[in-house]
Amino acid sequence: MNIYRKWGVEPIINACGSVTRLGGAPMSSEVLDSFCEAASEWVSLEQLQAAASRKIAEHTGTEAGLVTSGSAGALTLGAAAILAGHDLRRMEQLPHCEHFPHEFIIAREQRSGYDHAVRASGARLVEVGFNEIVSNAGVRRTEQWEYAAAITENTAGIVYVHAEDSLPALKDVVEVGNQHGIPVLVDAAGEVPPRSNLKAIAATGADLVSFSGGKAIRGPQSTGLLCGTRELISSAALQMLDMDDHSQLWQPPADFIDTTLFQGLPRHGIGRALKVSKEEIVAVLTALDLFVSGAYDAQNLEFRSWLEMIGEELELANVNATCYLIVPESSERWPQLEIQIDESAVGTAFEVCQKLRQGSPPVYVGHARLHEGLLTINPLCLTADYARILAKRLCEVLK
Ligand SMILES: *Cc1c(COP(=O)(O)O)cnc(C)c1O
Repeated sequence: MNIYRKWGVEPIINACGSVTRLGGAPMSSEVLDSFCEAASEWVSLEQLQAAASRKIAEHTGTEAGLVTSGSAGALTLGAAAILAGHDLRRMEQLPHCEHFPHEFIIAREQRSGYDHAVRASGARLVEVGFNEIVSNAGVRRTEQWEYAAAITENTAGIVYVHAEDSLPALKDVVEVGNQHGIPVLVDAAGEVPPRSNLKAIAATGADLVSFSGGKAIRGPQSTGLLCGTRELISSAALQMLDMDDHSQLWQPPADFIDTTLFQGLPRHGIGRALKVSKEEIVAVLTALDLFVSGAYDAQNLEFRSWLEMIGEELELANVNATCYLIVPESSERWPQLEIQIDESAVGTAFEVCQKLRQGSPPVYVGHARLHEGLLTINPLCLTADYARILAKRLCEVLK
């Protein structure tokens, strides 16, 4: 952990999982080795991305793919591809797109801070549906007909944020898109595991799907995957790749960029600011292979033993809290530990969480349910040693 101290930054114990603000997921030694090996030689980035396209296509059951700067970068590029297609003038104009169809329909209940990633392309979001269950003012979710009713001549695409319980079902939204010739861009950043979602989401017929490379796939946290139709991926790649070449010389792989769809050579596009390095591309593809092969599953048993140890330590110390080990049915998913604290004895969960962050070493626990007096422990970024220190810190603050 000394590398960070050298820069005056105190390393932490991350019991939150693969969250971006704490550094993403752990990379396996195989992934790290592939990163270093990739750094020792040079390749043409369009050829490397074309190879990535074939690999991503194989694992997602789509025609083509692209390694992007996170799932967020994939959303910007996906929206840019839908907006511009292979119209080089449109590519040049982005993010200014008021003179051609530029609206993306999105359910109000699916909006979040990640909207920025879509809007950065120039796209304007048009909401459908309400959030009436949250406001306790109604009982219905967004419905299929609302998407159809919102389509106008300004509609360029539909954005859909995938979750296990998203409604309407993606296939129903794709059906509306197909009926009106409107592409559907799916944000599935954190939707694996299950591994089957890599293929199942695109199998609905969605035109583009984005995944994070730095969450459960455990590639570099700065990476993402965009997959979908050959034509849209070709446009996305054109708007991302460094284009400072001569048209007489430039020969991208034909299965990746379809040069019959345009004349001339575009300059750097809106995605030039979203570049990924050769090392990141190789590392995330290595991680993707490992993830798909199920290589990470065995570790879930080890994770469970650490969480059981933490639970036992807290019980032995007779702390003011009760632990619940949550073990998912699927062997693809890792367990978590929920710690219900006695707020009358040790202060609110917010206070306990803050104390843990400010202690030594700083400990960051899952904070999604603090309002219920609950801390969560996600084992993904722990080690056996960190788990022991974590147990000790928890005993101290909950005593
Ligand atoms: C994590 C996440 C993103 C962003 O993914 P990155 O790979 O960090 O860019 C986008 N949308 C949703 C729903 C996410 O959970």
